[in-house]
Amino acid sequence: MKLAEVSWVDAQSILGGVDTVILPVGSTEQHGPHCPLGTDHMTAEAVANIVGDRTGLPVLPVVAVGVSSHHRQFPGTLWVRPSVFRDYVSDVILSASSHGPRKFIIVNGHGGNTASLKEVAEDLRSDEDIFTAIANAFPAKLDGHAGEDETSVMLHLRPELVKMGKAVDTKQNEALAGIRMKAQKVGPADFGWDTIDLSPTGVFGAAGKTIEATKATAPHGEEIVKAHVDELCAFAEELKAAKLEDLLPKPHK
Ligand SMILES: [Zn+2]
Repeated sequence: MKLAEVSWVDAQSILGGVDTVILPVGSTEQHGPHCPLGTDHMTAEAVANIVGDRTGLPVLPVVAVGVSSHHRQFPGTLWVRPSVFRDYVSDVILSASSHGPRKFIIVNGHGGNTASLKEVAEDLRSDEDIFTAIANAFPAKLDGHAGEDETSVMLHLRPELVKMGKAVDTKQNEALAGIRMKAQKVGPADFGWDTIDLSPTGVFGAAGKTIEATKATAPHGEEIVKAHVDELCAFAEELKAAKLEDLLPKPHK
């Protein structure tokens, strides 16, 4: 059930009758010369809606702009500051919670949002007694940004928006990408790279590898989505069944 499609009268009984709700979150940012800017939020929304239909959980409207300033050199990319993003997502959840639900599953389509979402989840649990789990809209291991896997997912979900004639295979700038990979080996520290520093096309992935967006196919995308949705549904059922008091902090001052 999509919350935005029902009246307040129906919302009253729906939100009063469940304690778990899904919030899709994504971004509006470049996804190579061939995929739409909305790739991440469209995927998050589509995956969240499938999970919502299968589990009976309500789905909130998608948060379509996220933490994406590292794509700023590519026209059309939109972003908000992490502090604004955290406040916004937090307020969306708090407002939904005021109608009843206390458990939330964020289905996140954009890796750049993850650090901020973790802070939101920690604060909501500590300060508001609201439990928020952050799930990815994509499986953890994809070949890269706007590469074969992500492009395949879009060919499955929104084929009319993908321009395969414009897809390119890309090997990223090895000097910077290599340093980034080595920095990640010695610690969690990263540096403030922009995508364009790594890749002129916006398609990028592991250093030393050519990311082959041109190999994308709809059946491959369907496989990725199906396997991941099965896992998300299983997780949603578990969270639904979990007792709120088992998820919240012990009494504290
Ligand atoms: Zn993406």
